[in-house]
Amino acid sequence: MTKIIKIDPLNIDMDLLSQAADVIKHGGLVAFPTETVYGLGADTFNAEAVANIFRAKGRPMDNPLISHIADISEIERFAREIPDSAIKLANEFWGGPLTIILKKKNGIPDAVTAGLDTVAVRLPSHSVANALIKLSGTPIAAPSANLSGSPSPTTAQHCIADLTGRVDMIIDGGNSMIGIESTVVDLSGEVPVVLRPGGITPEDMRSVIGEVIYSGEIEGAPRCPGMKYTHYSPEAQVIVLEDIASFEKYRENGKKTCVIAKNAPKLNPSADIVYDVGADDREYAARLFYLLRKADEDGADVVFAELPENHGIGIALYNRLYKSAGGRVILK
Ligand code: AMP
Ligand code: MG
Repeated sequence: MTKIIKIDPLNIDMDLLSQAADVIKHGGLVAFPTETVYGLGADTFNAEAVANIFRAKGRPMDNPLISHIADISEIERFAREIPDSAIKLANEFWGGPLTIILKKKNGIPDAVTAGLDTVAVRLPSHSVANALIKLSGTPIAAPSANLSGSPSPTTAQHCIADLTGRVDMIIDGGNSMIGIESTVVDLSGEVPVVLRPGGITPEDMRSVIGEVIYSGEIEGAPRCPGMKYTHYSPEAQVIVLEDIASFEKYRENGKKTCVIAKNAPKLNPSADIVYDVGADDREYAARLFYLLRKADEDGADVVFAELPENHGIGIALYNRLYKSAGGRVILK
């Protein structure tokens, strides 16, 4: 049985949220809202509970989780070495969409780190996530709260669709504002390396710690363990177009066609379904996963999605779109 509770992020009912914390304390699984996407959480230090996350999602065991903390000082429970850069980035960008990879301390269950010598830590900004971590009295290990391979969940309804009957509780705390997963930066080596682009950009980090490498993992081998798996895919085929107005050229008879574009009303496309993603890439990111799921609900066979800008959050957005599209990108 999966219990669903509704919590207002602006007026948290602590008694109700304590029920979710009790589930975590007793080794259960709770889907909870964060500012990036919804997470599927368990007590980081309960190896059995963490193993159940993988079962519930159908997630490969070699794809590690992020431990969510509620106070910067908790980083010490995870890392055997804490470089200055970690403190600087944490002070600047936590709570927020930045996951930091550090050399791990002994005692963290192997399931959390997929047996790696490093560990991923993040302090979210979402009020419900923070309150849940505090009430649980333990860091919460969580990947995204979707079935492995499907688009990440940005609403409780997405979690309900994927995980009902598979987890103990789902907290409905409204929409995830950022809409794509956190930036992952590896600080365990000589030079900081961005392993997964997200809401905090390499430029944002360079202004705080200097050199940061981001080579883009699309061309080469995946550097982030989870990055090698098919991700974010709806049932419909996704095609990314630089010139979204040209979608008619690629349209096939008899296929229900969906267009996802910025300023879509201006474009006046003749597709069967048109989703407007607002004016800029930030709004686009906030709506992407929601719309990929909606395209399936609306019966689309093919989704043409506009190529985002090649800077800022556009880079993270492109990374997710590229994976959703299985590499089908058509440039001008
Ligand atoms: P998810 O939030 O579902 O994308 O899952 C967490 C992601 O964090 C994984 O897919 C990895 O990409 C990343 N991650 C977690 N731990 C590590 C680590 N030790 N080294 C590199 N990446 C990690
Ligand atoms: Mg995920």
